[in-house]
Amino acid sequence: MINKFQYCPNCQNKLKRIDNRLLDCSSCRFHFYLNPAPTNALIIENKKGEILLVKRKINPKKNKWDLPGGFLDFNETIEESLSREIKEELKVTIKNFHYLSSYIDRYFYRKVNYHTICFVFYTKIDEDLNFQPQDDVRESKFFSKNKIPWGKIAFKGISKALKDYISSKKTSTK
Ligand SMILES: [Zn+2]
Repeated sequence: MINKFQYCPNCQNKLKRIDNRLLDCSSCRFHFYLNPAPTNALIIENKKGEILLVKRKINPKKNKWDLPGGFLDFNETIEESLSREIKEELKVTIKNFHYLSSYIDRYFYRKVNYHTICFVFYTKIDEDLNFQPQDDVRESKFFSKNKIPWGKIAFKGISKALKDYISSKKTSTK
């Protein structure tokens, strides 16, 4: 990703790469740091012990299965951004969720392979929520834990999160 940045945004001089995350402009002393983008995802488990996956409507990984969630906006906490993403993608409000773990991933979009760090949460729902897929989600579907479409999961980190969750004691009976 860092190779995409060739010129100083301040003075247009050629940038020098110092390491894998820092670019330096020798002309105006501008320093540009690249950092991983924080993302979030939610594992929603229903009372049958099934997990909700969403099918991606857009690239990257169009038509692959994913967890609902997305990228952090400015001035948002991870929890606020997760609530917003769930509302945007599924038109439901989920307030009560718990932290699972974080997962490193890559997100290739329009020629840039972004580094991401996904904060994954989980929640259990008792009632039947009326999920209405929209935004960048084509459809949503509950899968029993032994029928997760592992070969069609969009991201490695999401796969790992699902495996961690399913093998943990946090999940309901299998
Ligand atoms: Zn410069």
